[in-house]
Amino acid sequence: MITPPRFFISCLLGFYTTWSKLKKLPHYLFQEGEIMREEIRYLLRDLPSMDELLQKPWTLEFQSILGRDAVRSTFADVIGEMRKDIIQGVSSSIGAEALEPEVFRRLARYAGKSLRRIINATGVVVHTNLGRSCLSKSAIADVAEIAGCYSNLEYDLDEGVRGHRNAHIEWLLSMLSGADAAITVNNNAGAVLLSLAALGKDAEVIVSRGELVEIGGSFRIPDIMDFSGAVMKEVGTTNRTHIEDYERAVTPQTRMILKIHPSNYRIVGFQSAPSREELARLAREKDLVFMEDLGSGVIADLSAYGLSGEPTVKGCVASGVDIVTFSGDKLLGGPQIGAVVGRKQLIAKLREFPLLRALRVDKMTLAAFETTMRLYLEGRSGEIPTLMMLRMAPEDLLKAARSLARKIAKESGALVTVTKVSDAVGGGAFPATSIPGYGVSWTLPSGISDGTAMKRLRGEPVPIVASAKDGNVVFHVRTLLEGDDIIIAKGVCSLLEGE
Ligand SMILES: *Cc1c(COP(=O)(O)O)cnc(C)c1O
Repeated sequence: MITPPRFFISCLLGFYTTWSKLKKLPHYLFQEGEIMREEIRYLLRDLPSMDELLQKPWTLEFQSILGRDAVRSTFADVIGEMRKDIIQGVSSSIGAEALEPEVFRRLARYAGKSLRRIINATGVVVHTNLGRSCLSKSAIADVAEIAGCYSNLEYDLDEGVRGHRNAHIEWLLSMLSGADAAITVNNNAGAVLLSLAALGKDAEVIVSRGELVEIGGSFRIPDIMDFSGAVMKEVGTTNRTHIEDYERAVTPQTRMILKIHPSNYRIVGFQSAPSREELARLAREKDLVFMEDLGSGVIADLSAYGLSGEPTVKGCVASGVDIVTFSGDKLLGGPQIGAVVGRKQLIAKLREFPLLRALRVDKMTLAAFETTMRLYLEGRSGEIPTLMMLRMAPEDLLKAARSLARKIAKESGALVTVTKVSDAVGGGAFPATSIPGYGVSWTLPSGISDGTAMKRLRGEPVPIVASAKDGNVVFHVRTLLEGDDIIIAKGVCSLLEGE
């Protein structure tokens, strides 16, 4: 029979034996309160101790750049992942030989800059994954000055008192849109959220079922609506919604009609929706706010360049929309910003709404945005890269493609031809329109697959993002910036030499 003292002693002994076994294992293998399973312990036995790992000569430079703790924690991360793979049955051995190369790869990445310049050879002008719009030279200069100096960001120079950061852009936005007032926030998603929360909270907002879109993965109208506290009232069908549908949906709780630009999505065929004028009339009749999320904010009409049908901000305001929201870095060609233009008393409500503080715009962004707006005002929109790229004449694109082909051939001897390509506006604008462009098609040597070539181009010191199909890599010239052609030629050359 086990008496209490003896039970106590045997527990103590058991505990001591387990503890002394565990103590021999490197401490980074433990997770709180967990006893290692015997087989995992067996598999992990070949790994050197952390002290040994940290003495490896190749780690020393990383330790001096990133610090010893960073190197230690990277080892611990990778070992932890290997351990988890074993526990979950993903792998059956610890792969000790893979440990150091993997840690090296990660440390090399941590030691370099993460957000880097790349070359966009895709022909997609407003490429959301590649940073959307590039700023004009004058906007870049103004950002640099404002970033490095004190400024009158929130200071009224006339009166010597506190000012408001939106004062710098309100007049410009009003001039260019024809609205009475304007405000800016972090991005268009923020502009929609702020407007719905400030104007539609606890009230009903009517939306057409044909416009309940998701944009860029995480911006979904029903979710934003939910988050804002507004109650969504859906009307019509996916393809057809009539003014009577809106009219019938109005109740005493209704405060707003919301129109959403479907952006990256089109319904073609048997479809219809009421015009802005009809919706504006209904909103006035019923004393509602008529808001439109325009997405890509077109300031300058692009129809002369074969891009017609995208509504301009001015056009929306003129049709009677009370509040229009749009992005700064899509077709507008400026920095990431969300603009709201519209009626004075509505914008005043947004200005007083506490959420604005959480969405406010940084000074560098404001500097870039002000300068970009001034380029429009002064008739110098041709200096905005996004517009410049969209307006490029076919003969200029052809010339650029020929010049790139020559450079690549001269540098590397690669087999290249000038080819017609389909470019795209991107950023959710003109989704159904592809714009004709030119590019250079490089026929890969038989030993290199499309995937390998693209990966190697992405691994260049200035990464090159292009497209590839059936053994040819295609560089679209529309989206190339000055000097990109030389880098591409060198990239092709180093890829071939590496073979
Ligand atoms: C792009 C887009 C948004 C989101 O704008 P961000 O500036 O990316 O926040 C919202 N609505 C529409 C219709 C859009 O096209």
